[in-house]
Amino acid sequence: VWDNCLSFIKDNIQPQAYKTWFEPIMPVKLANKALSIQVPSKFFYEWLEEHYVKLLKVALVKELGNTARLVYIIKMENTYGNKKPFTEKIPSSNRSGLRAQEIDVPTKNKSPELKNPFIIPGIRNVKIESQLNPNYNFDNFLEGDSNRLARSAGMAVANKPGGTSFNPLLIFGGVGLGKTHLAHAIGVEIKDKYPEKTVLYISAEKFTQQYIESVKKNTRNDFIHFYQLIDVLIIDDVQFFSGKSGTQDVFFHIFNHLHQNGKQVILTSDKAPVDMQDIEQRLLSRFKWGLSAELQTPDFETRVSIVKNKLYRDGVEMPDDIIEYVAKHIKSNVRELEGAIISLIAQSSFNKKEVTIELAKQVVEKFVKNTKREVSIDYIQKVVSDYFQMDVSTLQSKTRKRHIVQARQLAMFFAKKFTKASLASIGSQIGKRDHATVLHACKTVDNLSSTDKQFRKYVEDLTKKLSL
Ligand code: ADP
Ligand code: MG
Repeated sequence: VWDNCLSFIKDNIQPQAYKTWFEPIMPVKLANKALSIQVPSKFFYEWLEEHYVKLLKVALVKELGNTARLVYIIKMENTYGNKKPFTEKIPSSNRSGLRAQEIDVPTKNKSPELKNPFIIPGIRNVKIESQLNPNYNFDNFLEGDSNRLARSAGMAVANKPGGTSFNPLLIFGGVGLGKTHLAHAIGVEIKDKYPEKTVLYISAEKFTQQYIESVKKNTRNDFIHFYQLIDVLIIDDVQFFSGKSGTQDVFFHIFNHLHQNGKQVILTSDKAPVDMQDIEQRLLSRFKWGLSAELQTPDFETRVSIVKNKLYRDGVEMPDDIIEYVAKHIKSNVRELEGAIISLIAQSSFNKKEVTIELAKQVVEKFVKNTKREVSIDYIQKVVSDYFQMDVSTLQSKTRKRHIVQARQLAMFFAKKFTKASLASIGSQIGKRDHATVLHACKTVDNLSSTDKQFRKYVEDLTKKLSL
């Protein structure tokens, strides 16, 4: 019976896959239309279930009829030094010391439409929902200078998950710049190209909750095992891991396992790895194995095309000058840009008014006011230059005059303190410096403010001005 099944399977899959997944299987016994097969490991069993369950079922039903059943016996080396492999029949409820498992898989199939007629009692269903949002895809992720590198790296990863040097791919950038969108887009594209791959999107926060839960319930190993089965793991906002050493530890193990097995890991963060705080060094060094790609604030043209594209998709018309007005004034956050447009549409339809520049001004003002709380690097430079009575261009200049260098270092220090911008991005905005210069500036300010009274006064005054 098994030979017949095999020859049917062989005709239906790639020779390499056949060799890998079916040749190692040993038929054990056939009783009451239940065929027992022995597989080398639990992982092997899960792989079969995940990828070849339909094929197996068809083969089996062809041979044994509709009441066919398949029983997996998982063979494992025992741990007592005895080379002889053994199998042990264990009811599938979880037990400690579980070394081998026989899993009954009924193929009784009343409804042929059922996606997976193999119901596995007691074992968590291996089918994993990807949690992807199909509305976040590459088609509606508009390209611009600000995102070109990250977007094309994402595309490359989607074409060859696990097969590029971008592993992990870390996408970082400020709030509302499209990290979550791009992360989903990569997953959606992979699912499209490789439907058989297991893709999972999860926020770092949810991952952490799940982990804590698993520790409470004593199922930490199951937790790890679950994640190790994934082909493409997408974790959003990994800055959330900062200071959480247990979660970092478990993620480290999962990451290593996935990476070693050629699986793809995609991460997003609001900071570049160099700027991440309270993340273990060994994790940070893993992050740097692959590619870190920054999403920067989109330029005016890109903002306009993002808005136009969104309006077009929603079937809403709006005059170009209004779109441009909004795009001109809302610069640092795509989510807010979209929010302003939506609010504009809502107000105009609510009041049955045409969308006018006046209305646009009101809406923009509200948005800009609401976001004043998060100071921008431009604003910081302005405040610091005003305080020292110099122009912003002087502050940014290459001069080494002491008081100008100090002002520049203070601007960098406050940019680090009050914004989420990366050291690199602060450097590039304050007179095109690199991240090391910014880091040095922050240290200098720290030192001087503890040793130099006058300097401490500067820091205090500026802190007040910037906190208003
Ligand atoms: P983040 O995760 O970085 O905070 P999101 O991915 O949630 O940002 O993006 C915020 C909003 O901006 C989303 O609605 C997203 O669709 C939109 N957005 C961001 N960048 C782009 C882009 N390049 N093209 C189209 N929409 C974008
Ligand atoms: Mg996000």
